[in-house]
Amino acid sequence: MPSSPSSPSSPAQFFSGGRFRIADDVEPVLEAATGARLGDGACVTESDIDDAVAAARSALPDWRASPPEHRAGILTAMADVLQSRAQSTSELVTRENGMPISLSRGANGAFPPLLFRYYAQLITEIPVEEIRPSFTGHTIVRREAVGVVAAVIPWNYPQALAAMKIAPALAAGCPVVLKSSPETALDALVFAEAAVDAGLPPGVLNVVSGGAGVGACLVAHPGVDKVAFTGSTETGRVVAEVCGRLMRPVTLELGGKSAAIILDDADLDATMRGLRTASFVNNGQTCHLSSRILAPRSRYDEIVDAVAALAESMTVGDPLHPLTEIGPMVSSRQRERVLGYIGIGRDSGARLVAGGSVPREQPRGWFVSPTVFADVDNSDRLAREEIFGPVLTITRYETDDEAIALANDSEFGLAGTVWSTDTDRATDVARAVHSGTVGINDYQLDVRAPFGGVKASGLGRELGPEGLAAYRTLKSIYRTGPA
Ligand code: NAD
Repeated sequence: MPSSPSSPSSPAQFFSGGRFRIADDVEPVLEAATGARLGDGACVTESDIDDAVAAARSALPDWRASPPEHRAGILTAMADVLQSRAQSTSELVTRENGMPISLSRGANGAFPPLLFRYYAQLITEIPVEEIRPSFTGHTIVRREAVGVVAAVIPWNYPQALAAMKIAPALAAGCPVVLKSSPETALDALVFAEAAVDAGLPPGVLNVVSGGAGVGACLVAHPGVDKVAFTGSTETGRVVAEVCGRLMRPVTLELGGKSAAIILDDADLDATMRGLRTASFVNNGQTCHLSSRILAPRSRYDEIVDAVAALAESMTVGDPLHPLTEIGPMVSSRQRERVLGYIGIGRDSGARLVAGGSVPREQPRGWFVSPTVFADVDNSDRLAREEIFGPVLTITRYETDDEAIALANDSEFGLAGTVWSTDTDRATDVARAVHSGTVGINDYQLDVRAPFGGVKASGLGRELGPEGLAAYRTLKSIYRTGPA
């Protein structure tokens, strides 16, 4: 039996106009835990992008005009396929990017079908048109599909981030051209396989891969009506400039440097259990990571000891092992970046209290030990720049107001956490934090609530009804007389 296009043993492919095509140019996908070649990803050409966008454009009129119930049915069928393949998809992503399998099962296995089902239901509940009385008669307010969507994603949560764009876009009636990262080019094809199995009309979903040049070409393509981008703030600014010039709507989910505010009444055991994920999830390669720990002076030493012990206790190793908490960085380049920041920390006068090197037991792959620096000043580069690895900083504060000011003294504003035994007090602190999301004594995304950032963390929101609204444009039809 021939292997599926997403299988590492298949030749590099992309999906355009309802067909899988063999790519002329390929880029190897390396296994993060070993550095060995896993398979080949497609690196598409400009003319492949033209074809994919043209296919999406020809699919647009029928897909946009199709009844919401029809689109919901196909989304549900895609959810069924994704769910039936959840285990193999989770394992594939773990091999590509080093995400611990226990996390991958949720983020890459369970989450995408959940999201497809959520938007399938939502699209049948929100009316396309509503009538509002006006001063001269009444107005029909219509929600129309915005058009062809270019979706560009990074490698860190490839299935979840793709689903956060594909599901609401398809539900809204928008065809999509998805561009995955070269590091995770294989798993993106699972969506194409699900589209075929679920009977999605050709051209409604197209999946290409390649590097920065491919992304730039797609984002600026004249056949694209909207861009949905997730990635670094640096690239996000470039994408925003291009979209600004083209007057093209764009959603930007960018970087973060979020604070974990530990209040003086926090239960430290419970807080440390929560920080295991809030501050180290996905080997630190997570945009909403609570990587800046703010600790009250009254409990500072106790907290430094607890966070250092937490880092030392994390299970580092094979990401396919169910008990592994910290796997490798996605690539040697990413590990160099993280080690570079550890070097900056060592030179800055901050106090290294855990980790700080490559674990000796992991000679292969791109591992970094969970690392903690205490006595970090909020103006230090370590506290200001996104490291995107398992590196935490601890900064001292005196009062709740100072903790809030430190949390807000950042270029970014994506997330944050507050840790306290008094939920109301913690919620008041959360209200004062200038960011798109905040978790109290935990951090879990909610499919039904908007997710996104302020300041350099991005523009617009994904998830919830707001995530659907991003793919619909509004039209007002003014009519005289009564409705
Ligand atoms: P990146 O910005 O280097 O790349 C992201 C994607 O953009 C890739 O597919 C890449 O090929 C493409 N790209 C690069 N240059 C481009 C250009 N000029 N035009 C169009 N596309 C281009 O980011 P990365 O290193 O892959 O991912 C890590 C970053 O993503 C981190 O900063 C992280 O915080 C951020 N991120 C944000 C969220 C969020 O929801 N806010 C979620 C996950 C990751």
